[in-house]
Amino acid sequence: MSLQICYVCSKNTLKHVETLDSGNRYQCECPLCGKFTIGKIAARNVKNMFPSIVSWIRECNLRENEPTILSQTMSRIKASLPSLSTAQKSMRLLKNFAMRSNVPGHPINYTHLDYPLAWARDTREFEYHLRALESEGYAKFTPNSSRERANGQVEILPKGWSILEFGGSQRSGMVFVAMSFSETLKHIFDDGILLGIRDAGYIGQRVDSVRHVDRIDQKIISDIRQSDFVVADVTENKAGVYFEAGYALGKGKTVIWTVRKSDIAQVHFDTRQFAHILWNDAHNLRRIQTSERGHPVFDSSREPFRRANG
Ligand SMILES: [Zn+2]
Repeated sequence: MSLQICYVCSKNTLKHVETLDSGNRYQCECPLCGKFTIGKIAARNVKNMFPSIVSWIRECNLRENEPTILSQTMSRIKASLPSLSTAQKSMRLLKNFAMRSNVPGHPINYTHLDYPLAWARDTREFEYHLRALESEGYAKFTPNSSRERANGQVEILPKGWSILEFGGSQRSGMVFVAMSFSETLKHIFDDGILLGIRDAGYIGQRVDSVRHVDRIDQKIISDIRQSDFVVADVTENKAGVYFEAGYALGKGKTVIWTVRKSDIAQVHFDTRQFAHILWNDAHNLRRIQTSERGHPVFDSSREPFRRANG
């Protein structure tokens, strides 16, 4: 136990830090960033991902996931961080408050250290989003004092619950990606699928991109349940991809099927009737917006994204 400044925000002293893996990783808890584990090399370079990385960690924590940031996974995490519009940030804050309280009427405490929940740069921007939610009639804030607006209690009002429920913003912002982990497809995920998902305002995730301590199958199940929709790339015809896509369909999630053009003939008989997005390379995949049957893919103005923009 020592007074260590946070590796991620470089602002706060870590509440807790524990050395793991013979000094190669640190398990940390920061009053601003929340709980995360970081590799020794990543700890030196993670600052350039501030402040989005803090929001990413905090949202992982809201979903009871403590992320691990390693030098190998950093560029992928960085690429997945969305850049949100002002209105999207306000709605994200509302959704994150809602995740803290599932019981309507129960006030939710917030502090000036909650600004990452709005993907805000600082407390001042956070206060803007608090005012925006209040003026829209989505939430009522009771600050601890008139001088200290950034600390207090929030109550989500009926209009707020309604927009979350019917406006589609009760989404997690996460997209589960089911695909082969083969090395030849790595850049398809990194430079195609992940960026396409980010362009649409979501965070794409596949199980190997976030290290975790859970058993892998439980992690998959829980990630699919929490995701807004699933992208299933059936290139190389892996059984696991069909399992994950099938589970998602059973849970009522939208599944966007993609496959390398040259692999279309190998697609499993049972799922061949679904429209597949055919791609030739990562760049091409990122740009594709409609399939041959006109189904939307990475197009933020259409389903399933349209519902989500609420
Ligand atoms: Zn921190």
